Amino acid sequence: MTSNSEMERLKRSLPEWVEESRGQAAFGAAASYIPELAKAPNDALGIVVLGRDGDSASAGDTDLAFTLQSISKVFTLILALIDRGEEAVFAKVGMEPSGDNFNSMLKLELVEPGIPFNPLINAGAIVVSSLISGNGPEEKKERILNYFRELTGNDRLGIHSGVYRSESETGHRNRSLAYFLKENGVLDGEVEDVLDVYFHHCAIEVNCAELARMALLIANDGRDPLTGTGILPRRFVQIAKTFMTTCGMYNASGEFAIRAGLPAKSGVSGGILAVVPGRYGIGLVGPALGRKGNSVAGVHLLERMSRAFDWSMF
Ligand code: GLN
Repeated sequence: MTSNSEMERLKRSLPEWVEESRGQAAFGAAASYIPELAKAPNDALGIVVLGRDGDSASAGDTDLAFTLQSISKVFTLILALIDRGEEAVFAKVGMEPSGDNFNSMLKLELVEPGIPFNPLINAGAIVVSSLISGNGPEEKKERILNYFRELTGNDRLGIHSGVYRSESETGHRNRSLAYFLKENGVLDGEVEDVLDVYFHHCAIEVNCAELARMALLIANDGRDPLTGTGILPRRFVQIAKTFMTTCGMYNASGEFAIRAGLPAKSGVSGGILAVVPGRYGIGLVGPALGRKGNSVAGVHLLERMSRAFDWSMF
């Protein structure tokens, strides 16, 4: 089957599949530990699949705006790698799945040398935020926002101030992780400044089409498929894609890799960025989360699509 006819089939099938997967939202709930996130419509589900030629298939609640949350971690990792290089970044954050929840403290004390297991768990992403260049938190936040504006092609991209404030006020667990990392000598700089940068990039607001565009950049090894321009270094995109495969869906990454077989990254807003390597970028949102913190309806839909089209990362 040519990818062209596959896109046509996607366009035809997606509306029905979205409605079928939407029912899965009943088995989950929107995150509430960041109080503002609990306001999201529980049974919303929207998806955009973007091809290299700019053609796309979409269905459901694609107008819903949502915050990147952990999805931002993939791209802040790439930015830190650009700023500092591989050696400096991986001196402070590991490369292994943690097997624990995304906000766990457990292994920081249990396993020497006390660096976070990987850059996609909260502890790791907080360290990554500390490695991004800039003079003080305001300059770093602006730099990161401009970077995401370039990635999404939307120069009006901004943050959801309610979510940002809500997390700054209630992020006690992330605060404790950060102070612990400071004590371990892993985190440089003022802890509150680093956290501010971290909360800020988690609160960047996007829609499914913007997420799909970011995903397509990853799918296309960092090149804009339409212009051929290199936006992100290929090596760092490969690193990011590998982390997405091993750690992107939190503690359900192994199961997702088996069932859907795609590199992906989820966020507690219910967003998922998924990649069909070399072919499509997928952005979806479904706020109701399952036990392991991933969109239940979103995971259901991706598994179905992947089976129907025989997609695979290999
Ligand atoms: N901002 C969220 C947090 O730190 C991101 C976590 C997530 O999406 N898993 O808890």
